[in-house]
Amino acid sequence: MKETENILANSLYLGIDIGGTHTVFAIVGPKGKILCRGGIRTTDYSVFFDFAKALRKSVEALAREAGINITCIEGIGVGAPCVNALTGVAEGAVDLPWPSPVPLAETLQNVFGIPVGAANDANAAAMGEMYYGACMDYDDFIMITLGTGVGSAIVADGNMILGKRALAGELGHSIVRYDSDRMCSCGRRGCLEMYCSARGVVLTARKMLEATKEDSSLRSIPSDTLSAKDICLAASAGDKIAMDTMRFTGEILGEACANFTAFSSPEAFVFFGGVARAFPYFKDAMIESYRRNLLWVYRDQVKFLQSDLPFDDAALLGAAAVGRRAALKTFCPTC
Ligand SMILES: [Zn+2]
Repeated sequence: MKETENILANSLYLGIDIGGTHTVFAIVGPKGKILCRGGIRTTDYSVFFDFAKALRKSVEALAREAGINITCIEGIGVGAPCVNALTGVAEGAVDLPWPSPVPLAETLQNVFGIPVGAANDANAAAMGEMYYGACMDYDDFIMITLGTGVGSAIVADGNMILGKRALAGELGHSIVRYDSDRMCSCGRRGCLEMYCSARGVVLTARKMLEATKEDSSLRSIPSDTLSAKDICLAASAGDKIAMDTMRFTGEILGEACANFTAFSSPEAFVFFGGVARAFPYFKDAMIESYRRNLLWVYRDQVKFLQSDLPFDDAALLGAAAVGRRAALKTFCPTC
């Protein structure tokens, strides 16, 4: 088993990230080194099979240019909206130009002739961290993506927890404030996402700006254009209200992570996404709140990490990692 994993760690994988307009791909070598990359327009193909064939052609051409033998690719991972990781089928993805359901994994496997795995963004990101990033030493961790929304993926005993319909890990929609006035896109109030996503951070900052007359560089930005990035930048420049906003974000996150710990007893939490770039400004408050809210049996067991995948390549590396997982599954179906 270890031997198989060592061979697979030194092999090549194709990571594909399918977006509504563009699809990008990369051939990834050992230690997550991107050997070549390319892309095609998703919208140029009204039939998914034609898209898959064009993709293969494009991959072959780029591999040839880079001097890579395409037969050395052991697995393919594909990230796409609304994809079910168990079936490899995208269902109800309004952004994709093909009629739903789209059998992504099966079609790509037929066209490329190698194992294909599929995953949503958060699960692909977690696989990327496990094979190429901050979680290489961990078999039990929870990945939390802090971006437009809050996503998460749970890895236990080296396996992704998917659940019956591959919907496990929607921790962003766990309710953290029952008396909240923050209405979430899911139709409920008080979800973690409404506090720790980019939108949540902006809502907190607006509230803090309204509650005091205190001077802040954020007051020079019109309230309706204020972004989480503005707040992170202001926090890094020492602006008190921006720092308080990040501290409050960290407190809510720490409290939520304390509850999540009881679920899968992770060794680490790893944070990725635009808001996670402000990790140094919410980390201390998060750890303090985590410790305060933690059931004592878990104390001193958990690390809090920032993703160390390159931000712009994380989706491709995550997809390649899903490909590596798919290759492992063909050698060891029970893994
Ligand atoms: Zn929600």
